[in-house]
Amino acid sequence: MDNVVILRYSEIHLKGKNRAFFENILKKNIIAKLNGIDCRAEFSYGRYVICDYKQADENRIVTKLRQVFGLFSLSIAKRATAEPASIFEAAKDVAPKSGTFRVTVNRADKTLPYTSVSLSAEIGGRLLEYNNKLEVDLHNPDSVVYIDVRDNRTSYVYSESVPCAGGMPVGSAGRGLTLLSGGIDSPVSTYMMAKRGLKLTALHFWSYPYTSMEARGKVLELAKILSDYTGEIKVLVVPFTKVQEAIHKYAESNYMITLVRRAMMRIAERVAERYRCGCIINGEDLGQVASQTLESINVTNSVVKSIPVFRPLIGFDKIDIIETAQKIGTFDVSVKPYEDCCTVFLPDSPVTKPTIRRAEKNESAIPDYEELISEAVDNIEVFVLPER
Ligand code: ATP
Ligand code: MG
Repeated sequence: MDNVVILRYSEIHLKGKNRAFFENILKKNIIAKLNGIDCRAEFSYGRYVICDYKQADENRIVTKLRQVFGLFSLSIAKRATAEPASIFEAAKDVAPKSGTFRVTVNRADKTLPYTSVSLSAEIGGRLLEYNNKLEVDLHNPDSVVYIDVRDNRTSYVYSESVPCAGGMPVGSAGRGLTLLSGGIDSPVSTYMMAKRGLKLTALHFWSYPYTSMEARGKVLELAKILSDYTGEIKVLVVPFTKVQEAIHKYAESNYMITLVRRAMMRIAERVAERYRCGCIINGEDLGQVASQTLESINVTNSVVKSIPVFRPLIGFDKIDIIETAQKIGTFDVSVKPYEDCCTVFLPDSPVTKPTIRRAEKNESAIPDYEELISEAVDNIEVFVLPER
């Protein structure tokens, strides 16, 4: 009897008029995720099943599906008919070898000639006869044999449920532009917004040769890891050197970081429009560094006029961000020691309470500032991850 993988999605999110919309995106994402693995996906109301795969591919399938946002949990199950004899054959495989157990039946088809209670008693009884190392404990069993009878032809028998990534299907909430540095935070903020259903385009500011080829490579490596969750992701690399040099040359040194961050936001807003992104996302976290005080965030935020800027990490402790980075697999890459453009020309004492007026005054001292910004936007290089 072959195994199948049954998938459950989060009912709460997928109710109501928009159900078909969410489901279609989720199905498309599941199929894309399993692309290249020989298997079949069956989608029926409220339950998705992956079947007809080679046993050797099972772990890979499970690992991949656990990264699909919108899935709540999965189980490896045996598929039987609705006949008690067939269900028992499956239950024999699924039941523990020893210890206490209980059978729990869920019967979707109410026309069947048995009740949930009578079927669980029958299968439980047969299991006891079959294996005398088993004992029934209805209240606190070591394991539960679940029997899910869908209709005349199909029931699923399983014992474990594995949690999946949860959240909303990527693409169900529109598209966002995520500012991706090589640090620990921004891969986590990217992950979190993908989890809320955003399809993402990544934007990276690169100041070659002050920041190296390796620094850019690191960002592409992070994007590749993130693509396990986000699906294919475009990384737009902005040539940022001239903008940074101009800021360094003409601005007051304690305002440099403020101006650099405002330049990033200006560029991001234009890129968002060009790439049809409805929001900007960054990995800022209140109070973490000088550029992330309330005043600094206000001064950088104020240049963006047309769309919201989301900061999913704003209230997180660093330790929690690190924990998530480790869980999603970006941490080890993030801590590789390559410089980021924010660390180029770093002033000794950046202002922690900048004002918009002073920032604007500094910007107006930079000749052809607007042209520099436009030039950076026009010369973006595009990478697509994972590479095909
Ligand atoms: P991270 O760990 O994500 O680099 P950080 O704590 O180092 O964050 P900053 O360097 O102040 O903080 O950056 C704050 C946010 O600004 C980052 O999380 C990221 O979203 C964005 N950012 C910073 N540098 C870059 C860059 N070179 N390219 C794209 N986005 C950037
Ligand atoms: Mg950084």
